[in-house]
Amino acid sequence: MKNYFKLLLIMALGVVVNSCTYDRSKDVKNVIYLIGDGMGFGAVSTALMTHDQETGFEMAHAVGFQETSSADNHVTDSPAGGTALATGKRTRNGYLGLDPDGNQLTSILKKAQAMGKRTGIVVNTTLTEATPAAFYAGVKSRSEGYKIAEQFVESGVDVAIGSGLSVFTDRPDSVDLIWALKKKKYEVYFDWKHIVNPSADRFVAILPMSQVHRRNQPQVSRSAENGAVLGYSSRLASEGTTYAGDKTDISNPREYLSVASLSALETLEKGAKNGYFLMIESAIIDGYGHNNDSEGMKLEMYDFNNTLMLLIDYVHNHPNTLLVVTADHETGGTGIAYKQHEVGKKEKVSLNFSTKGHTGTVVPVFAYGPGAECFAGIMKNTDIPKKIESLMKNDFKTRRSKI
Ligand SMILES: [Zn+2]
Repeated sequence: MKNYFKLLLIMALGVVVNSCTYDRSKDVKNVIYLIGDGMGFGAVSTALMTHDQETGFEMAHAVGFQETSSADNHVTDSPAGGTALATGKRTRNGYLGLDPDGNQLTSILKKAQAMGKRTGIVVNTTLTEATPAAFYAGVKSRSEGYKIAEQFVESGVDVAIGSGLSVFTDRPDSVDLIWALKKKKYEVYFDWKHIVNPSADRFVAILPMSQVHRRNQPQVSRSAENGAVLGYSSRLASEGTTYAGDKTDISNPREYLSVASLSALETLEKGAKNGYFLMIESAIIDGYGHNNDSEGMKLEMYDFNNTLMLLIDYVHNHPNTLLVVTADHETGGTGIAYKQHEVGKKEKVSLNFSTKGHTGTVVPVFAYGPGAECFAGIMKNTDIPKKIESLMKNDFKTRRSKI
């Protein structure tokens, strides 16, 4: 994976090839949609203040604000926030992929598939968590994980990388959804080795939670997901089925999101004559907001910036690719309060929090590549997938009117 070496360079030196301009005449063939769960202005501020080098945020070709309300509250939860970003429709808190009356909505990922594009999902949490699920599922509660897993099998995505095996294999109905995926001609990987060098054109990778993130997410039991992978591998072994790679561990889970994103891009490029749509979620920023953990959020934003820098470099080298970066909502009511600093001494940046929950403050939008100009200004969360859809259709009338 040639891009892996760029990642190492970015992590070591903070450098990336970049251009501050882009070709506005290019069509939008490919879209990368990067969502930082709970990534508000406080989180972005820590990234700006703790990096000596220019961050990926500062390299944006256009910057906007978006207002994140759900249909029934100024403060959205992740299911309704994900639904707005995925479908362009607001719903009531708790609902996922459904309108307030319970009708199924069509996500931008599904619309991309209808346009003949290949599609992918990369997350550093479970594949059935609210934000990715908003792109392929429809349930009245995020707790319906078993049903979401069934909907994932039917999603038609070409590449998916994340965690959360238990809802696929340890089910009350005893159905093994991994076999269901294999019947649909997916390669299914459980180890890091295959993600670094994927050979299949279509694959689903489900890793232990310890490999997709170095620390636990509050809502997810990491030990349960680790146990699910090990339990499934020994079950396959007892049935005489070859199972490779369960001993392989990622050396540094902080590289996971970057490497998994590049692996998905390299795979999506194969045979994508109509382009592709890839959604990536950096999910754990939200958890640090809920925990009011300033140091955790800073580290998470450091990792987020590494992924962002790599994607900017990718967009620079693939000029028909639009990258849109935003959040589903802000978490923690983050801010940086006044402290006395000594002149000439570099003080540590620390965040203050005003809540353990989500807030309704606006969140930033950053866009890169062709069509980026459409994301400048103030918008609603629901405007983002609508703009992406019109750009994927190469509706230049819409595009020009926004310049
Ligand atoms: Zn949250």
